[in-house]
Amino acid sequence: HAKRIGGDRIEVFKPAMRSRKTDRLTIESELRRAIEREEIKVQYQPIVRLEDRAIAGFEALARWEHPKLGRLSPSEFISIAEEIGLIVDLGLFVLDRSAKQLAQWQAANRGREPMFVSVNVSSRQLLRHDLIQDLRGVLGRTALVRGTLKLEITESLVMENPEHAAQMLTRIKELGAGLSLDDFGTGHSSLAYLQRFPFDTIKIDQSFVRTTSRGTRPVILRSIIGLAHDLGMEVVAEGAETDGDAVELYQLGCEYAQGFAFGEPMSAEAAGDLIGTQPQRRPLLKVVGSE
Ligand code: C2E
Ligand code: MG
Ligand code: MG
Ligand code: MG
Repeated sequence: HAKRIGGDRIEVFKPAMRSRKTDRLTIESELRRAIEREEIKVQYQPIVRLEDRAIAGFEALARWEHPKLGRLSPSEFISIAEEIGLIVDLGLFVLDRSAKQLAQWQAANRGREPMFVSVNVSSRQLLRHDLIQDLRGVLGRTALVRGTLKLEITESLVMENPEHAAQMLTRIKELGAGLSLDDFGTGHSSLAYLQRFPFDTIKIDQSFVRTTSRGTRPVILRSIIGLAHDLGMEVVAEGAETDGDAVELYQLGCEYAQGFAFGEPMSAEAAGDLIGTQPQRRPLLKVVGSE
């Protein structure tokens, strides 16, 4: 993963030893069957509340356990799934699996503050009407606390067609799902539009947390966090890799963080075990008229 050299972080990637062209064809033809064969797995990465470091929820991340190629990361199959139109099926699978998993965790932890799970959504899914129908189906099949199944939608996606996106997002909210604006800071948002989208949460892209130089980092983070708060949204910082990152983010007013400092994406079983080790945290009671 990430290696620290002289204070700078350098990414060490495993070199891809396979032929790209063969892979592409293999992946295209086998992706279709992969869903039926249950080779697509969902992993869960903790999202931690910085105030007390308790797990508030998880992001669901797709993996492909390919029988010959081994574990493939989303970068190796999501864009292909989008191109060949399979992302709708794949996305529904991940959504359905994540919702069932979340329902199970909520049922096992009654009396505690309810967890959330957030699921990534691609443009093809959002720009087609099916998503609303699929989401209605999933929410109808699972008894979830309102707003705890969240959809993560990238900034570049909503800016592709802001008018249409705004309509879809409003309908998603009405169905009772939560909305996170993913990879914020990379998609050239128009601030005028941002105000009109019903996002609950902004996820600061990991590039701002991981690679921005020490001096400018707090300046950029503070302004994004301030903007989000002014718009009534909470903030999740992605790519928090060290305890120092977490401390700095908390001091800057960021509510949540996700990253290797708190846990890598893991199986549902491992995530369930991790929830079990959490201190019991009761729901915060809102006292009406106390402010
Ligand atoms: P994302 O939604 O921004 O997800 C965060 C990515 O950052 C994940 O990569 C996660 O493993 C990685 N990450 C988390 N913490 C750290 C950290 O501290 N350091 C570093 N270096 N990386 C960290 P992953 O799982 O490879 O997913 C990549 C992208 O693939 C996701 O970016 C998302 O856009 C897409 N994706 C994943 N699953 C799905 C899915 O089910 N549907 C769709 N449409 N897209 C998906
Ligand atoms: Mg995401
Ligand atoms: Mg992201
Ligand atoms: Mg990303």
